[in-house]
Amino acid sequence: MKQKRTSRRILWILLAVLVLLLCWASNEQRLRPAYLGIARFENKIKGIDGISAASVAEVKGDARRHSRAIRTVFGLFGKAKEAPEANYDDFVDLAEFIPDAILEIRYHTSYNFVGVPIDGYEQPTALLTREAAEALLAVSDDLKEQGYRIKIFDAYRPQCAVDHFVRWAADVSDTLMKPYFYPDLDKSVLFEQEYIMEKSGHTRGSTVDLTLFDMATEREVDMGGTFDWFGEESHPDYTATITPEQFALRMLLRDAMVRHGFKTLDSEWWHFTLKDEPYPDTYFTFPVRQYE
Ligand SMILES: [Zn+2]
Repeated sequence: MKQKRTSRRILWILLAVLVLLLCWASNEQRLRPAYLGIARFENKIKGIDGISAASVAEVKGDARRHSRAIRTVFGLFGKAKEAPEANYDDFVDLAEFIPDAILEIRYHTSYNFVGVPIDGYEQPTALLTREAAEALLAVSDDLKEQGYRIKIFDAYRPQCAVDHFVRWAADVSDTLMKPYFYPDLDKSVLFEQEYIMEKSGHTRGSTVDLTLFDMATEREVDMGGTFDWFGEESHPDYTATITPEQFALRMLLRDAMVRHGFKTLDSEWWHFTLKDEPYPDTYFTFPVRQYE
């Protein structure tokens, strides 16, 4: 009798360990290094040093499929915690992480080039991967010493928001915000000239759109062009119509970002991506809002 009870207890412990293991493995980002380790080990047994790029891609695909399958099984027993690819565990809320930053999350409002709040922006929140947020905090401290605060327009952008932009761009008759964002541009060229694309670096969670806020005047600085303007004036090095003061401010922002590990974009003075981004090929889907 006692033996039976002991074996039942062992069975419960094993079951609990299995559930914990499945919870852990339901996250693609955690499963991937484990799978890569196994692949390396298998190769070592075969006498091969390291793994090929093709094998890495295969292992990543396996990790994605298996973690999705586990989440689907969990979903059968209750509400699935998150959609595939969703993983906000490693993201931080910039309002908390960089208290000096000013937030004006345009895609949560109607004042953007579409003219309505964008899909996926449930709250006026800015999220970034921890690595990008740490670099941005260093930028913020650096600029504060020079008399400026950072003002953020956008950070992590879910895929459904990018899909919303694509749908909007395909409808050439919808020109509601043309006077404010692209008065001189025919909407039909937005795809061709790459103003709108089907994938955005923002969806990988380490890209941010921002400007400077002057602490002396208590105003956003004049960069000689506005956020999300579709035109050459947005190129950081555009000098035809912008003044030396405006150019100097663009360079002040750019230098601070580059100094702390971000890379620039040739077509938008406000857009920067962390050079060593932690998820270079993951396009996240979870919505923009505060997470516990
Ligand atoms: Zn951007």
